[in-house]
Amino acid sequence: PAIAKALRSKIDEAGLDVKVHPLIKETGCQGLCEKGPMIRIVPDDIAYYKVSLNDVEAIVEKTLRSGEVIPKLLHISAKTGKPVLTLRENEFYTPQVKIALRHVGEIDPHQIDDYIDHGGYGALEKTVKEMTPDVVIEEVHRSGLRGRGGAGFPTGRKWKQCASYENSPKYVVCNGDEGDPGAFMDRSIMEGDPHSVIEGMIIGAYAVGANEGFIYIRDEYALAVETIRKAIEQARERGYLGRNILGSSFSFDLSIVRGGGAFVCGESTALMASIEGKVGEPRAKYIRSVEKGLWGQPTVLNNVETWANIPVILTQGGDQFRQIGTEKSTGTKVFSLVGKVKNTGLVEVPMGIRLRELIFDIGGGILGGRKFKAVQTGGPSGGCIPEELLDLPVDFDSLTEAGSMMGSGGMIVMDDRTCMVDVARYYVQFLADESCGKCVPCREGIRRMAEILEDICEGRGQESDLDLLLNIGETMAEAALCGLGKSAPNPVSTTIRYFREEYLAHIQERR
Ligand code: SF4
Repeated sequence: PAIAKALRSKIDEAGLDVKVHPLIKETGCQGLCEKGPMIRIVPDDIAYYKVSLNDVEAIVEKTLRSGEVIPKLLHISAKTGKPVLTLRENEFYTPQVKIALRHVGEIDPHQIDDYIDHGGYGALEKTVKEMTPDVVIEEVHRSGLRGRGGAGFPTGRKWKQCASYENSPKYVVCNGDEGDPGAFMDRSIMEGDPHSVIEGMIIGAYAVGANEGFIYIRDEYALAVETIRKAIEQARERGYLGRNILGSSFSFDLSIVRGGGAFVCGESTALMASIEGKVGEPRAKYIRSVEKGLWGQPTVLNNVETWANIPVILTQGGDQFRQIGTEKSTGTKVFSLVGKVKNTGLVEVPMGIRLRELIFDIGGGILGGRKFKAVQTGGPSGGCIPEELLDLPVDFDSLTEAGSMMGSGGMIVMDDRTCMVDVARYYVQFLADESCGKCVPCREGIRRMAEILEDICEGRGQESDLDLLLNIGETMAEAALCGLGKSAPNPVSTTIRYFREEYLAHIQERR
């Protein structure tokens, strides 16, 4: 905001065409986070990075007045080492395909008109005016969309199941409790394009027969809360929320619930308990939320990214959507690409892209000319994937086969200086701190794992510890109550599978 304000005032002082003013647009994240704040000058598409208040005068006087480029503000290609003038030519952006992030960095998230000018709420109009709930569900089913929050459950099937129950009321819920270290996908969507989430939820509610919805947002995301709150108000004023939406007989409204700060509240049943005002603990899932979710009523819960995909599916049609991605993992996935890569930030790529392309083309390769060692996908309970699997396609099934998972989209790249045993210890300790302690396999198992890893790192380990770690992990995967405990062993099992020699080196150092 400070740079935008300074730009406006400099343009005034310089006496440039006042028509320029409305074109200064403050958007959400532009993706290449490490190089923010960023300014794009359209229609020439000149992109300036790491802009400071000191650069404002030069931008106005040189670029806006005289069309001169300021070389020090350009991106330097990690591949060629040469400056890059436009966004189109920047290797970070070129391979990306934007669906969920289609408006993030393009529109002013605080202006509903900007969203509408970009086709926003068109899918909702089409839905309520031309489609029956069954047809909407069929379209989502045909798209092949799978939940982007971690489990990858087919969205259309979930909606169909919920719609099949006649109990009323029903609810739709958005999971915006993004707690993975290093992940900021959902935050960027909520801050940069809140109406796409809201529009997706209204369409979902229409399809399953819900009249009330909740957006559960991590408490630390104050800006996301504020942006969504404003967007809800604007949508209400325009008749997209409330009674008789767009003149139809369908009514629906939304509220925000702020999370309490517990990582486990990202788990669907714990999240629902938290909305109900109870302790945020998971429950066994033999009763499915689509039948008995929030307050025991049929509920559809999807995450931010899943909801943001919905308007596009309804606009383009499910068949068109599934042209992107792979047969079993359609569409795109948003990742926060962080760690030891040159270009860190928010990326959206077609499912099935190779890890190598993500890390070396989009990410620009490893920082400081170091060697790649591993990439961790899927958040704290994801696995670490080694160099020999760099050609693995990034989709739900391939990542699971490799012992990791898609998760919600965290991707942390590590270089050859990283100790993989330390990495496993860090994540297990994180999960031990966040385990709610309700079930024995997770409560005891994860603590024991943390102790063993601590022993190994401190030179008190022995070779038999590795089998013990794997055994505990298998038991947890089998018997823990929720996804946190079931997947918590992943960082340990994958590092033992792919980097066993590092564990042995720690153990042998002791002798
Ligand atoms: Fe709680 Fe862990 Fe059991 Fe989940 S698996 S219910 S987080 S103790």
